[in-house]
Amino acid sequence: MAYKVRFVEPDTQWQRLKDEMEPTILGTLAKGDLILRQQLVDFEKNLADYCGTKYAVGVNSGFHALHLSLVAAGIGTGDEVITVAHTFLASISAIVLVGAKPVLVDVCEDFNMDMDAVEKAITPKTRGIMPVHLNGRVCDMDRLMSIAKKHNLAVIEDAAQALGAEFNGKRAGSFGLTGCFSFYPFKSLGAYGDGGGLTTDDEKIAHAARCLRYNGEDRDTREFYYHGFTALLDNVQAAVLDVKLRHFPSWVNRRREVAERYRKGLEGVGDLRLPHFPDANDKTYFDTYQNYVIRTKRRDELADHLRSNGVEILISWSRPIWTYPDLKLGDHSLPETEAICREVISLPLNSEISDENVDVAIDVVRRFNW
Ligand SMILES: *Cc1c(COP(=O)(O)O)cnc(C)c1O
Repeated sequence: MAYKVRFVEPDTQWQRLKDEMEPTILGTLAKGDLILRQQLVDFEKNLADYCGTKYAVGVNSGFHALHLSLVAAGIGTGDEVITVAHTFLASISAIVLVGAKPVLVDVCEDFNMDMDAVEKAITPKTRGIMPVHLNGRVCDMDRLMSIAKKHNLAVIEDAAQALGAEFNGKRAGSFGLTGCFSFYPFKSLGAYGDGGGLTTDDEKIAHAARCLRYNGEDRDTREFYYHGFTALLDNVQAAVLDVKLRHFPSWVNRRREVAERYRKGLEGVGDLRLPHFPDANDKTYFDTYQNYVIRTKRRDELADHLRSNGVEILISWSRPIWTYPDLKLGDHSLPETEAICREVISLPLNSEISDENVDVAIDVVRRFNW
């Protein structure tokens, strides 16, 4: 069945951008600028400026932004890194794949890291903390940075869902040792394939990441410094992302507008809990709504109702990540994470969606047998 309201509309976005994209992509190919050329340098500079950091390094995925950050920070075998259980597996895998142990903590009502739980999880082996700014909302970075400072821990921000989101006027990716972004096609800034980037103010970390993404080689000196990876952001994707980054601030505004439209249409309906959190209206948080995640105790019924009435939705995630036995993450009791897995639905929210379609989605939710 074709959905009346689609979750994402990459074709609509293409129609809007194609007059800029065609010459950008074809021009890059015509010049033969395939890797490590000016388009990448330009995008990195613009990404760093946008995030408010000195450096940005383009890589091939959000996963590798996290992974190379951990390697560059010297985290490995025998070390512990604290992160949340309620995240995409890539955050946790990056820790596992450097040989460190992921220590999973619970989240709060706003889906983000519980800082009390972080403090309790610190041991003599803890070397880093990976906060995940989920759904376009930054974690409480005042609290987190003071915990990290007190215990001398590296902070690797998983900002894959939070480009442009702010906390106290500072953007995601500018608090920790590094900020890690994903340009997976359906992130708020998406490439036409995989892509990612990391931001940092630390020159040594930026240099390490540049070497690590290119099999350990420093391109200027031709010296090998590391056993590295093949993890470049290619030039065509960088050129595409640079065009999209110019539109990005207006897309963020549109996302916030759509979120507000959902709030007005859904407030007080059934047992719904909406993702507008108590202090969302003061100046402390600036949320970008990578996802618009609602909660209800009747999740499965509401999900069926939405789908069968033409509204495409997503459930992230329906099972706690530690319940997949092959991942060997141990057993946990993390009540908020477990409740979230049972209760969440992401409604369609993207920069292309029309007001009319938002209203259709609202109407379908309201017509549920509450
Ligand atoms: C998308 C995502 C990643 C991974 O990014 P990829 O580019 O798909 O590797 C990591 N963490 C979070 C929270 C994400 O949403």
